[in-house]
Amino acid sequence: MLGAIEAGGTKFICAVGDEFGNIVDRIQIPTTIPEETMPRVIDFFKGYDLEAIGIGSFGPIDVNKESPTYGYITSSPKTAWKNYPFIKQIKNAFSVPIGFNTDVNAAALAESTLGAAKGLDSCLYITIGTGIGAGACIQGKLLQGLSHPEMGHILVKRHPNDVYQGKCPYHLDCLEGLAAGPGIEERWGDKGINLCERGEVWDLEGYYIAQALMQYILILSPQKIILGGGVMNQKQVFPSIYKYLQKLMNHYVFLPELSSYIVSPQLEDRAGIIGSLLLAYKALQDESRI
Ligand code: ADP
Ligand code: ZN
Repeated sequence: MLGAIEAGGTKFICAVGDEFGNIVDRIQIPTTIPEETMPRVIDFFKGYDLEAIGIGSFGPIDVNKESPTYGYITSSPKTAWKNYPFIKQIKNAFSVPIGFNTDVNAAALAESTLGAAKGLDSCLYITIGTGIGAGACIQGKLLQGLSHPEMGHILVKRHPNDVYQGKCPYHLDCLEGLAAGPGIEERWGDKGINLCERGEVWDLEGYYIAQALMQYILILSPQKIILGGGVMNQKQVFPSIYKYLQKLMNHYVFLPELSSYIVSPQLEDRAGIIGSLLLAYKALQDESRI
């Protein structure tokens, strides 16, 4: 029995299940302050005899096992969670192996193992929601260097008609600032979900996402690209992405048929929590190898 926490900026999802993605129980808890949210997380898991716990968290987080702040949420704009020792708090309640990574890395692992990229050597999972983040899974391993990648904050060329300043608190008009949900809402004056009929909104969205994908493809050459997150519920963004990406790439590198190469998550909105179960499983395997 494995435990999983998908820690998001608005809600925590906790689940109990196995490494095949079967979930036997789950709850959802609002993300308020650690003193409120965490006791509810711990209470939920207390009812189970767990072998390991996996955490897929909003970030930035410290994933470097050699670092003194390994397992911390580091510079989150959510101030109550800044410098929060996530692993330590869970370890205090449960002395089992803990897997810890970003929410998008968890989702990338799940889609790679059990979802849209199953059987392939590499995939890139990108979420476009409140923020933009991505995780790359290569031969079963999550790409990590100094820390985890932060691919949502790359710079893109502005559309000549787009005068919106951007919403990223650090860079204003990076990809996240121009193309994540809050930026869409501020630029067009309404929530994305209410803008379904406005073709120009989703054309521009595709314009920015295609630029990002071009760069990810040129650098990583992933065998599959999976686009999740609330904004990608607007399925009309996909054809816009294909159109602009074809134009940008201009047949320079071979790409498969785009509609089967750039796809929605096969695990739908369960990718993050299933990935967290897989992080727990990996932690258990790593521990038994020592
Ligand atoms: P989070 O990123 O907080 O985990 P989501 O992936 O659901 O959560 O992203 C939330 C963002 O996505 C919000 O900015 C919201 O306006 C936008 N969003 C959610 N659903 C839709 C939709 N169906 N169409 C367009 N935008 C949406
Ligand atoms: Zn940014």
